[in-house]
Amino acid sequence: MGEPIAFVEVGPRDGLQNLAAPVATTLKRELCERLFSAGIRRLECASFVSPAHVPQMADAEALIEAINPPEGATLDALAPNARGAERAVATRIDRVAVFVAATESFAQRNTRCSIAQCLDRARDVLRIARENGRRSRGYISCIADCPYEGPVPTRAVMHVARALIGAGFDEIALGDTIGSTGPADMRRLLRALKQEMPLARIAVHCHDTYGMAAASTLAAIEEGVRIVDGAVAGLGGCPFAPGAAGNAASEDLVFMLEGLGFDTGIDCTALAATGAWLTQTLGLPNASRTGPALLARPIAPRRKGV
Ligand code: MG
Repeated sequence: MGEPIAFVEVGPRDGLQNLAAPVATTLKRELCERLFSAGIRRLECASFVSPAHVPQMADAEALIEAINPPEGATLDALAPNARGAERAVATRIDRVAVFVAATESFAQRNTRCSIAQCLDRARDVLRIARENGRRSRGYISCIADCPYEGPVPTRAVMHVARALIGAGFDEIALGDTIGSTGPADMRRLLRALKQEMPLARIAVHCHDTYGMAAASTLAAIEEGVRIVDGAVAGLGGCPFAPGAAGNAASEDLVFMLEGLGFDTGIDCTALAATGAWLTQTLGLPNASRTGPALLARPIAPRRKGV
């Protein structure tokens, strides 16, 4: 057995949230169950946002009620503010996540508040999660580039990271919203963060707009990160980040990680089949490279050791 990686599948939330056509709760439930069957043990499945803003996530409570996580699996959900967090802790969600942008322009456009106000909201979400015995994740968006401000200085990311870790978040997730990070930027940022906070609390959440998601994730792994996000079939994208493509495809990341000798606990072929089923059912392109290749010509990841 290789060293474990905590793989966080965000497809049911991040992959679906921006689709224009509504996705039925029964289909989401089947997706979650297929993901669990493939070995996913950490699933970000819903978002407790206003249904007026994100209609696709309006069934958060109904979905959580409908799914049966296997032994050892945990459910994550987003909550943008105290109201969302109260909804989240009324369910059996294990971990509540909240977003803070690294730039003022993105914070204003995405959440209509300043970074300082976003941090206040994040502290509210954390307090409610803790009072109810739940774990917490603080996402930092725009870690490398902002669609409005361009390149984001490391100190801007550090400012938000310090505030979230200082507030007591269990984990922070570095979100490359634009998908432009690349391995060099990822290394530089992680080397700065490592000086101040334990790597065990840092996750990476890459997007594949520039085809850099696997390379950036690999750089993070080489720096010591062991919590990795992906979305099956590479679905997703950010409505506030023009041109941003989907999330890192889980199939591609799992294939890479298993090939490096890590233990994700995930059956990559079953994950590939889930991505194929989901994209065919929704009539969407499959953005994973590994998924379709693996189904066409099954090969085991070549374990070389790290
Ligand atoms: Mg994402």
